[in-house]
Amino acid sequence: MHYPKKTMGSDPHNFVVGLRCILCGREFSNGNLLTCTSCGEQGILDVEYDYARLAHSLTKSALDSRDRDIWRYRELLPISPGHSLPHLHIGWTPIYDLPRLAQAIGIAKLYLKDDGRNPTNSFKDRASAVGVMKALEFGFDTIACASTGNAASSLAGLSAAAGLKSYIFVPQRAPEPKVTQLLIFGATVLRVQGTYEQAFDLCKQACDKFGWYNRNSGTNPFLVEGKKTAGLEIAEQFGTNIPDWVVVSVGDGCTIGGIGKGLQEMKRLGFIERMPRLLGVQAEGAMPMLEAFKSAKDLIPSDTNTIADSIAVGTPRNWRRAIQQIKSSCGDMIAVSDEEILDAMRLTARLGGVFGEPAGIAGVAGLRKAIAQGIVKKSESAVVVITGNGLKDIASAKQAAGKAIDVEPDLASLSF
Ligand SMILES: *Cc1c(COP(=O)(O)O)cnc(C)c1O
Repeated sequence: MHYPKKTMGSDPHNFVVGLRCILCGREFSNGNLLTCTSCGEQGILDVEYDYARLAHSLTKSALDSRDRDIWRYRELLPISPGHSLPHLHIGWTPIYDLPRLAQAIGIAKLYLKDDGRNPTNSFKDRASAVGVMKALEFGFDTIACASTGNAASSLAGLSAAAGLKSYIFVPQRAPEPKVTQLLIFGATVLRVQGTYEQAFDLCKQACDKFGWYNRNSGTNPFLVEGKKTAGLEIAEQFGTNIPDWVVVSVGDGCTIGGIGKGLQEMKRLGFIERMPRLLGVQAEGAMPMLEAFKSAKDLIPSDTNTIADSIAVGTPRNWRRAIQQIKSSCGDMIAVSDEEILDAMRLTARLGGVFGEPAGIAGVAGLRKAIAQGIVKKSESAVVVITGNGLKDIASAKQAAGKAIDVEPDLASLSF
């Protein structure tokens, strides 16, 4: 699939008006800028669009004839025409209505949106897809990131699809299965003899020195626009039937912040009538954002200790935007233990047929707890975004799964 080539004069297919700092409000023109030049790392930039103009082309009937993937919302993405899109199918993940799981966790109506079905099996593909498009647009041939997990495997896969070189900085303790996923996609994997923070810094320095595009997700403003597509989809897929709650697991906060933005945009454009409430779920072993949310003070970085490695973030980089989105939706936050996550993994697999990694399932555990605590009412409805597939982290899944039964190849050895 190609975008139409540029027509006369200005670019009629790009509706971005600029980038605005969420801290000081300063506006920048749309370009290769990662954070606010006055506020530094804390000055996360938000991409702004000309909604009045794009409302003429992003209509229900226009969407009817478009491909069912994230690019159907092209007016709401910071992408300029000129480069062909990656061929991998990203987004428009299915939504399942699961009455038996709903009953087990005590809610009237429960839906799961399974984002483990993206090409590299996590939600992160939505962001990486936009990341590689921006790298191409800005003229880079190489893209880099520091990560041990899904952001890295996703970047490696999308780079392979787009014909970009990728360099991934992983800390020494990076799990072997995830490193293997990087290597098979042809990424150059640099194992940094140090911590994740050191890998992150080294990646940033290398991008500056060697002229690579930096996909470090906490701060790159364009990646959140990719994550936003899940919110756009939830609004379009449910329409007038939008559930009361949208439940999302939270690490850096880009996912829930992006989904919140997407839902708001769809309300503004008339696809939904009301904004659902956001429930942000953290692991008890890594909940600095929940503490900032409850205290209404600045975030204090924490240590991390949880089975849900993809949300084990002690220094979230996008916490302000996440908390802003949750508050403006009249939402809430909750934290769950590893035990509760493992329990939810079993329940979701056995009653829903969906196998998620611990961070991917944390939302189900959080919703269950929020119902028990009366935050979410039993009579309400909720959709939980399953953010990553269970095969991503076999060691954890084995803890939840139980054991096979060894038998002789003899019917007499079977006794039930
Ligand atoms: C990255 C990730 C999250 C959380 O996203 P943030 O933007 O860090 O809050 C949740 N689940 C999975 C599986 C992830 O990979």
